[in-house]
Amino acid sequence: MMPGSLAPELRRALSERIRYYRELGIYDFYRREPAVSDSTADATPENSDLTSSSLVQPELREEMSARKSAAPAASLLEVLTPLPEHGVADTATALRIIREDLGDCTRCKLHQWRKNIVFGVGNPHADLMFVGEGPGADEDAQGEPFVGRAGQLLNNMIKAMGIQREDVYIANVVKCRPPGNRQPERDECDTCSPFLMRQIAAIKPKVIVALGAVSAKNLLAINAPMSELRGRFYDFMPKGADPSWGGTKLAVTYHPAFLLRDPRQKGEAWKDLQMVMKYLGLTPPNKSSE
Ligand code: URA
Repeated sequence: MMPGSLAPELRRALSERIRYYRELGIYDFYRREPAVSDSTADATPENSDLTSSSLVQPELREEMSARKSAAPAASLLEVLTPLPEHGVADTATALRIIREDLGDCTRCKLHQWRKNIVFGVGNPHADLMFVGEGPGADEDAQGEPFVGRAGQLLNNMIKAMGIQREDVYIANVVKCRPPGNRQPERDECDTCSPFLMRQIAAIKPKVIVALGAVSAKNLLAINAPMSELRGRFYDFMPKGADPSWGGTKLAVTYHPAFLLRDPRQKGEAWKDLQMVMKYLGLTPPNKSSE
């Protein structure tokens, strides 16, 4: 049954019950697979990687994953329980509420290996937001995104745009370090990214820059090589955001860690950033006046 077709009484009762469980610290709910077979189930292969969602939008992807047994019934929950930061006008407060809701998260397996949750850092009123893949060792140790070598390069990229790290907001698709710096897995991204969506919806940046393919593919639910993902703006509206906001622009560029390995691509990344600067009306600092 679709959430929208629930009788108001049932809807209210379910909402109350879910709020009660949340207060107890229970966040994840699961739906039992219907006993009869569903002919559409074959259309959503279980073992697909990130790329399986290639041509569908995030909303659709969530609905598809809600079909699977033991997948969080996210859409039902979202309809029934307004997010705690909704209606909070002050962005810093909204971000604090989201952080509190995240808590000492154990929703996915990454929690076993982390030292610190890396929530995000920066200006809650930023026009520009950068989204990386996931924390590395330095970020895990310090609890802040992009503080290692890749972070230093990101800082230089931000300075080259004529702004400072403190002016932007920086976050990752996953908030806990994947062991051995492996890429975050599909279930980890799916579990964590609703918090990123809430951060984006609270900050309402004018532009998001997705750093690298993992970030871009997760945000856009598009599977394409970097060469195709870069060089254009996408319209982006995080799920659950205030519809009157109208969403943001999203651009894709190379991950700074990749640029450290292949500095020849820095010129291409600079082209991506120049596209963003033009949109935001930023001019590079005058070298002679530094
Ligand atoms: N790489 C990322 O994707 N994020 C960080 O925070 C650090 C390195």
